[in-house]
Amino acid sequence: MTNKQRKFQHTQKHLVQNLTSNLFDIIGQQDSNRKVVATSEIKKGKIIYDIEPYSHTQSQNFLSVQISSEEHILDTLLEAMNHSCSPTTFVDCNQMLVIAEQDILPGEELTFFYPSTEWKMDRPFSCHCGSLNCLGFVSGAKDLSISQLLKCQINTHIKTLIQNSFKSDYVKSRFKKQYVSR
Ligand SMILES: [Zn+2]
Repeated sequence: MTNKQRKFQHTQKHLVQNLTSNLFDIIGQQDSNRKVVATSEIKKGKIIYDIEPYSHTQSQNFLSVQISSEEHILDTLLEAMNHSCSPTTFVDCNQMLVIAEQDILPGEELTFFYPSTEWKMDRPFSCHCGSLNCLGFVSGAKDLSISQLLKCQINTHIKTLIQNSFKSDYVKSRFKKQYVSR
């Protein structure tokens, strides 16, 4: 067996273990109310899933997740997770992990805040998540105010993209000092 085959076998094994976790279930089919639901109690801060992208690309689509200013990935669990403006998880693109953002009970949906990873969404949509701070329309981080973005945990690449979107160097450096490096 070549190293490449061995690595592939290991990756496949890891992927199966990862997706058969006893923490969640993927329910429904693609494009028909697919969602991810917790099957046991998950405490805030717990690592729920190790992200295993099966595709890495520079062009996004409605299923991809942005992990840096230029890269987008496809991952089986992330594809199935819905957006919420008060998400139950955080998709951490530095560590490539899905982490519980709050205590989650069995039956509760695993969601993440799409603008925490997406700068400009491929398929913007009206949100009906019902949370008090619902954005109403979700089109990516680029269309949100700083105060809206700072209500949720967001990834470093999004903070950098916000910083770069400021025209003034003074505002850029102020933002970097306060938000990017924290
Ligand atoms: Zn919402």
